[in-house]
Amino acid sequence: MTSAQVPFLSPRRLLARVRDVMASAGLAQDRLNNIVTIIATDMVAEVCSIYVRRAGDVLELFATQGLHPEAVHNTRLRVGEGLVGEIAAHARPLALSDAQKHAQFVFRPETGEESYQSLMGVPILRAGRVIGVLSVQNRSRRQYTEEETETLQTVAMVLAEMVAGGELINAVELTPADGIAIKPLRLEGVRFNSGLGLGTVVLHQPHFHIERMVGEDPEVERERLAHAFSEMHGALDSLLNAGALQNGGEHTDVLQAYRLIAEDAGWLGRIEEAIESGLTAEAGVQKVQNDIRARLGSVNDPYLRERLHDFDDLANRLIQFLIKGSGVVGHGDDAPLPEHVILVARNMGPAQLLDYDQARLRALVLEEGSATSHVVIIAKALDIPVVGNVRDIMDKIADGETAIVDGANGQVFVRPGEDVQQAFLDSIKALAEQKAEYAALKDVPARTRDRIDISLNINAGLLVDFARLHEIGADGVGLYRTEVPFMVRADFPDVAIQRALYAKVIAQAGGKPVVFRTLDIGGDKVLPYWGESHEENPAMGWRAIRMSLDRPALLRQQLRALLQACAGVELNVMFPMVADVLEFDRARTLLDLERRYLRARDIPLPRRVNVGVMFEVPSLFLQMEELLARVDFVSIGSNDLFQFLYACDRGNPALSARYDVLSAPFLSFLRTICRRCDAAGVSVSLCGEMAGRPLEALALIGIGFRRLSIPPPAVGPVKEMVRAMHVGEVTGYLDALLRTPHHSIRNRLKAFARDHGVAI
Ligand code: PEP
Ligand code: MG
Repeated sequence: MTSAQVPFLSPRRLLARVRDVMASAGLAQDRLNNIVTIIATDMVAEVCSIYVRRAGDVLELFATQGLHPEAVHNTRLRVGEGLVGEIAAHARPLALSDAQKHAQFVFRPETGEESYQSLMGVPILRAGRVIGVLSVQNRSRRQYTEEETETLQTVAMVLAEMVAGGELINAVELTPADGIAIKPLRLEGVRFNSGLGLGTVVLHQPHFHIERMVGEDPEVERERLAHAFSEMHGALDSLLNAGALQNGGEHTDVLQAYRLIAEDAGWLGRIEEAIESGLTAEAGVQKVQNDIRARLGSVNDPYLRERLHDFDDLANRLIQFLIKGSGVVGHGDDAPLPEHVILVARNMGPAQLLDYDQARLRALVLEEGSATSHVVIIAKALDIPVVGNVRDIMDKIADGETAIVDGANGQVFVRPGEDVQQAFLDSIKALAEQKAEYAALKDVPARTRDRIDISLNINAGLLVDFARLHEIGADGVGLYRTEVPFMVRADFPDVAIQRALYAKVIAQAGGKPVVFRTLDIGGDKVLPYWGESHEENPAMGWRAIRMSLDRPALLRQQLRALLQACAGVELNVMFPMVADVLEFDRARTLLDLERRYLRARDIPLPRRVNVGVMFEVPSLFLQMEELLARVDFVSIGSNDLFQFLYACDRGNPALSARYDVLSAPFLSFLRTICRRCDAAGVSVSLCGEMAGRPLEALALIGIGFRRLSIPPPAVGPVKEMVRAMHVGEVTGYLDALLRTPHHSIRNRLKAFARDHGVAI
């Protein structure tokens, strides 16, 4: 039979029949056998088979109509092997009119497959995992339509509930537990927020058992959906007004953006379509979520990956409301929480994190994520250590196990021994004591033993950072990364929104100076609402000032907002990634235009405007004189300056130990820049990560820097170091050392510090 002769079948009728079989009495195997027969008949296919994934990544044929019956429970394929294995490996449907021509086709004589030319298969998915494959085959060539693939996917979703119900195989086999070793493990990831946490693992896997997959009446289901939607919105609103986050800040923007996603008309429309095809509202939500996962699951774009998790979060939330509304209680979120929770998730949405009792959260570990993802911003606001990008952690750890999270070093210790636990408890205690010690240093000056004052400022991007500014007694904000608030929003903020934000920044700084850096977008910093850009070399690409000068309206808006927000006070503004003085001039001209624009309208202006430059592209060094004649201050971005000077990607872990910022050439270079600024009477500071590490800070002060801008948690340790050091001694030592050709002076400097009583 050819496709032209295949009558169109309503998925609703097929679903109703599958549901009747599933609800009938008898052995699970018999019901499965009935289901393959029904599907084969309804879809006019000679073969219908169900493969179930078993421990060890094996797909076992569990039921078939059309293939040899002896093959059932005997034919096994590895994930990735053959067409069925291919579907499982990529979690994507395949529809092939000539299956045997496909590169992945393997011939399994025991099944008699050689006589079937066409194949359509879909993954059976549950909670994002492939738990099986459902396929149909036709003897003659058949072109399967998209609707048919959709229908098969819908049936597969209903089957997923049956497989997950544990009637066919032991439910243990469905959990990703097979790879778990019982030995202690140390897993590495990336620091998203520092701090230490010890506690009991809670795997964030909201599993809901959807009892009713097939709907009776689409009208009723649509009404249930609408009701659940409005309940969900109400709950999101209360999260927005929740206690711990009440003081405003980016987390409010995050949740607002998130609310907008929930209102996405396309999403709702697709759920309604799924209901129309015969599913219940909750099954419809799950189906659309499976589709989104299948589409976005393999993309690498960080923005899209984050959106996927926002949708996951919302879908689970909606299902929860639908299940509760129908009186059926979902399981998975009802177990009592341990006292100290180490929350482990593939990734999660911001609201999901807020669902956990915040008093019990000790740390968050993510398999994916990025430092600027929504959930991480919320975790920072709650002061929870976070480690991200921990590969396959969900498969290596189980609920209820003990884990230690070391945020600062980006590592997770799973099932640590008693002695390790004790050591960490000691560290946690020491950390708390140290925090108290640093807090006691809050009001003492960062003054060296030879009475030289060092100005310690913080790098900030989130409003939560400002609370630290006062807690730790920093002198001001040496680098306010304006792109960060842009990155957490759902759309580009207009002048009024920016003005209000910057005014809040000024107010929260409470009279301490703030240096605003204009937008540094591009590279790894993506704006959600700006589409994708594919560059070979994004760090050296169309970013920062280059983008701002090509889109002058954006820069002008930002400068206008800054000028207005700083009315009556001092505005310090600097431009990132400037490579030659002409770029600086052009940016400055835009600033002057904005000033004139506001003045002409009698809009109050800042008392004074200081215009500076980020020194992070080495070419600027060759125009030092011209530059210093133009700027009010220089801030060295050593993160970028080092990567460009050494041609060494700052984000590539394979290179991270290759060159050292504590090397004679780099320190000499920094010393020269610093001296030239001093000679010209231009204020200079350094705001890269290196300044936040006490040993590096020691070197920087030794070569002449008197102003540093560092991450807030580094202020205490650096201040302590400053108070123990003697600039004269370090300078003399470095002068000699920087004439040597050592690859790194780190160990020598460490020994020097130790010998001179400077704790590093
Ligand atoms: C730098 O490059 O050192 C810097 C502070 O800027 P960012 O890290 O934001 O690129
Ligand atoms: Mg930079």
